[in-house]
Amino acid sequence: NVNWGRVQATIKEFRDGCATPLQRLQKLAADMHTEMIAGLAKDGGSKLKMLLSFVEKLPSGNESGLFYGLDLGGTNFRVLRVQLGGKDKRIVKQEHEVVSIPPRLMIGSNEDLFDYIAQVLAKFVAKEGNDCKLAPGHKRELGFTFSFPVSQQSIDSGTLVKWTKGFAIAETVGKDVVKELQAAMVRQKVDMRVAALVNDTTGTLAGGRYRNDDVMMGLILGTGSNACYVEQTSAIPKWPSGLPKPEITVINMEWGNFWSSHLPKTKVDDDLDADSVNPGDQAFEKLFSGMYLGDIVRRVILKLAQDACLFGGSIPKNLTSPFVLRTPDVSGMHADESADLKEVAKVIKAAFGVRSLPVETRKVIIEICDIAAQRGARLVAAGIVGILRKIGREGKDVRTVVGMDGGLYEHYPKFRGCLHEALGELLGKEGSANVVIELSKDGSGLGAALLAASHSVNL
Ligand code: ADP
Repeated sequence: NVNWGRVQATIKEFRDGCATPLQRLQKLAADMHTEMIAGLAKDGGSKLKMLLSFVEKLPSGNESGLFYGLDLGGTNFRVLRVQLGGKDKRIVKQEHEVVSIPPRLMIGSNEDLFDYIAQVLAKFVAKEGNDCKLAPGHKRELGFTFSFPVSQQSIDSGTLVKWTKGFAIAETVGKDVVKELQAAMVRQKVDMRVAALVNDTTGTLAGGRYRNDDVMMGLILGTGSNACYVEQTSAIPKWPSGLPKPEITVINMEWGNFWSSHLPKTKVDDDLDADSVNPGDQAFEKLFSGMYLGDIVRRVILKLAQDACLFGGSIPKNLTSPFVLRTPDVSGMHADESADLKEVAKVIKAAFGVRSLPVETRKVIIEICDIAAQRGARLVAAGIVGILRKIGREGKDVRTVVGMDGGLYEHYPKFRGCLHEALGELLGKEGSANVVIELSKDGSGLGAALLAASHSVNL
C-alpha cells in the first residue's frame, strides 16, 4: 500500500528544490564574493561577519622554540606541546593529550571551568621531557584555540559573545577569555603567556601554512562549517583607525551564516530552521553541515511516510524525533554498494526500528541521501570559488591550497567527491587543478601553537 506515484512526486519536488545547476552555483559564488566585500566594509554590512583575527604573521616554517597549544571547542579539549627547530629541523617533537570536559563544568562557574583547564595544562607541562628546550630567559607561550564567537581586539585578547555547543556559563559572557585563562594559570601556578587567541578555522589555516606557503584558506566541514582566508589589510575598510596595520591578516568569515536569495531551499529546510534553537541564523550551514545533513534526510523520509505511506499505514517510532538519523548514518547508507543495500536496511532498523524494508524503499532512501549530499557539497564548492575570486586567484595559474578539517569531509567520501567535481565544473579542468584541498586532521591546536610562535614576544 505504498503510493509509489506520490513517492516519486515527493522525491522530484525535493530534487527540484535542491537543484544546483552550474548557473546557480555561479550566482552563489558571485554573491559570496559580494557579501565578503560588504562585510569587510563595515561591521553589520553583511550576514557574513568577516571578523578580524588580528593575526599579523602567519607561520613561515622558520619558527623555533618550545610552544604550547590548547584547543577548546567541544566536549573534548586537547593540550599540545611542540618543539620547533627552525627552517631545517622543523617540528622536532610534538605531543598531545585529549581530555574530556566534565559536563557539570560546562554549565558551572567561570572559575571552575578555567581552573580545570589550567590544571590539565599544569599536569601536561609537568611531563615536559628533557628534550624540550625553552631558550634561556624565555617564557613558555601558548596558542589558545577557542571555537566560540568572540570579539577580538588584538591577537591576545577577545571577549566571549556567547557560549554555544552545550556550554552555558553566564558570567563568562562579555569577559576576555584570555584574561580568564591567564588568571587561572596564575592560580594553578602555570608560568605561561597566552600569545594568541584563535578560532579553529584560523588555527587550521595556520597549521597548513606552516608546511605550505600556498595555503590561503582554512575550511571546517564538521558538525558546523566555517571558512577563513588570508586578506590584504588594504582591502579592509573597517580596520579600526589607530591600530597598526600589518600587510596581511586572516579574516574569520563565519560563513555558516552566509545568505543569498539563490540558495536552493525546500520546505524541509524551512521546517528544520523553524524547529532549530537559532531560527533564521546560520542559513548556509543548515543546508549541509554534519549537524544537519542527517536531519534533512530524516525529514524527507518522514514526509514520504506521512504522504505516501512509505512504511505502510504507520509511522515508524523515532521517525518524528529530530536528529535520530545522524550524518554518519547518511554517509554509511550512501556508501552502500551491495546489490540489496544491506547497510540501508541496517541503519533504518537501528534508527527507526523498521524491521523489514523492501529493496525499492532502500533505493528511495539512497536517492534522498544523494540529493542532500550533492546539494551540500556543491554549495561548499561555490563558496570556495567566491573566496578565490575575492583573493584574485580564480582561474589563475597559481596554486592555491585550502587547509581543511572536519569529520564531514574526512569521513564522507561521496560528499568529498561531489565537492571536487563541482570545483571542476566551476573552475574548468585547468583552473581546478590549481586548487588543492589538504586535509589536516585536528590541525587547529598545532596551528594555534604555531601562531603563538609567530607572535612570540620572545623573538
Ligand atoms: P567538530 O566539528 O564537532 O569539532 P569533527 O571535525 O570531528 O568535530 O566533526 C564531527 C562531525 O563530522 C560530526 O558531527 C558528524 O556530523 C561528522 N561526521 C563524523 N563522521 C562522519 C561520517 N562517517 N560521515 C559523515 N559525517 C561524519
